[in-house]
Amino acid sequence: MRPLIYAANWKMHLPPAEARGFAQAFLSAAPPVPGRTLWFFPSAVSLEATAQACKGRQDVRVGAQDVHWEPKGAFTGATSVPLAKGAGAVGALVGHSERRHVFGETDQETGQKVQAILQSGLTAMLCVGEKLAEREANQTEAVCIRQLRAGLAGVAGEAWGRVLIAYEPVWAIGTGKNATPADAAAVHGAIRLELARLGAPERIPVLYGGSVNKGNVRALIGEPEIDGVLVGGASLDPAGWAEIVASGLL
Ligand code: PEP
Repeated sequence: MRPLIYAANWKMHLPPAEARGFAQAFLSAAPPVPGRTLWFFPSAVSLEATAQACKGRQDVRVGAQDVHWEPKGAFTGATSVPLAKGAGAVGALVGHSERRHVFGETDQETGQKVQAILQSGLTAMLCVGEKLAEREANQTEAVCIRQLRAGLAGVAGEAWGRVLIAYEPVWAIGTGKNATPADAAAVHGAIRLELARLGAPERIPVLYGGSVNKGNVRALIGEPEIDGVLVGGASLDPAGWAEIVASGLL
């Protein structure tokens, strides 16, 4: 199997006991596979339970859905990188479209978050993607490039090895509509060109996200430009998620 990454974004679901139960049920249904890496992004309160349940599985990583760029301070409700790390996170999502478009996170803030994550030795999964109106105005690549430049400003040296990108067109998230594999692959190609321009010394994994499910995952990962998937809704059922992560083996 070629190296593939399957990432589950649990959003505001699965409290600690359910997250633990999910991880236990899922892991026994999905033994490790060479080349395949699995990520869980539970809510902050379920990070520790999920990380504990996944302990000992070298193929599984647990990350935060969001972090603040400051290491500590008076930021009520926020989770810093050291807090997430202390709960067992080895990475974090940054710039998910719900952070950008529901909570108003700016491009510059995503860059500060990526820096905080990388400086703490963790992995950053930077999400980029265009809104429907931007797609219709042929702005898809320009938006992704702008978000990449801001999000990855100042990344250098070995830290590139801890950067992952998720291309998630906003109009495809939670809507049941998804980019065709060929459309997604074309944007991934543009993202890869920009990563090279930004100085990434090696192949950075670029995942696709947006209404991925059992029915479409094989066609998506069949595109060589697509290195894995970031999945919300369809990652919330252990048996269904186990089927999705088996897609690269079929
Ligand atoms: C997401 O939350 O990153 C996502 C892609 O959600 P969904 O799979 O539900 O579209």
